[in-house]
Amino acid sequence: MSAPLLEVEGLSTTIGAARVVDGVRLELARGETFALLGESGCGKSMTALSLMRLLPPAGRIEAGAVRLDGVDLLRLSEAEMRRVRGARLAMIFQEPQTSLNPVMRIGAQIAEAVRLHAGAAAAVDARVLELLRAVGIPDPERRAREYPHQLSGGMKQRVMIAMALAGDPELLIADEPTTALDVTIQAQVLGLLKTLQQQSGLAVLLITHDLGVVAETAERLAVMYAGEIVETATTAAFFAAPAHPYSRMLLESLPTADKRGARLAAIPGRVPPLDRAFTGCRFVERCPRALARCVEQLPPWHEAGAGHWVRCHLWDADLVDTATVAEPAV
Ligand code: SF4
Ligand code: MG
Repeated sequence: MSAPLLEVEGLSTTIGAARVVDGVRLELARGETFALLGESGCGKSMTALSLMRLLPPAGRIEAGAVRLDGVDLLRLSEAEMRRVRGARLAMIFQEPQTSLNPVMRIGAQIAEAVRLHAGAAAAVDARVLELLRAVGIPDPERRAREYPHQLSGGMKQRVMIAMALAGDPELLIADEPTTALDVTIQAQVLGLLKTLQQQSGLAVLLITHDLGVVAETAERLAVMYAGEIVETATTAAFFAAPAHPYSRMLLESLPTADKRGARLAAIPGRVPPLDRAFTGCRFVERCPRALARCVEQLPPWHEAGAGHWVRCHLWDADLVDTATVAEPAV
């Protein structure tokens, strides 16, 4: 396998006293769609903002490496990082209307993004129309002259994607890109991301709490809980045999026929506050399988299959083969 496009190692981020990202490790291949899955408040968005180095003012990256093509982004100066943002990795957010300037025409906003990367001399107008076409906006000449309020939610998200693509990035981080959209438009936007990927080899880090979106778009995924990754697998292996009790509960709480739009908040309890120290498993208060050791000991990683890793005491060698793991956990 060729070297990964993105390698995240031991990434830890704090917001004030809360450790919102703790020891996160991820690898993305070129052209791959990788989903980061979890309830809200699990640290998914903070992971993404750490990769972009766009944390809120109280945010601080405490440790780790974020290597893009072998270069650790955390070691770049702010000026160097500005040149990487947009040109090599770009990000789109859940609410396109909050990112678009309401009093500026669509074409002018995309032109601004184009100029940022290509300089004023380039054929900016032609590039703007090319980007609008690439994201499937019909009649781009007319749309370029419109204002955001004249566009539907789906069209606005397409505009955001066009702006994100202006610098021809290799990696697009999409934070809940379709959550604010209705199901039909959501499918269209996901379809668009897939097409762009096939055409340009773009890698996508998709942040979502929607299992249906994961099933349809991602090749591999990681499940995040309370700031940590607790399971990572191919999407196929995950849906066939989720290994972590949290993952199993998420999947089993869903109807089997149609997982689209299913929200992860369906399981009882809530994510623990992240401003405290953890001695054992962070999921222990919600876990129906919890053992005595889960309160006191951090669960280590275990291999549940090829490329399938889980962080849970149930996979300790002395417990595996006792049928506690093989049977569905809940
Ligand atoms: Fe449940 Fe223990 Fe596994 Fe945590 S380590 S998920 S509490 S069984
Ligand atoms: Mg989020």
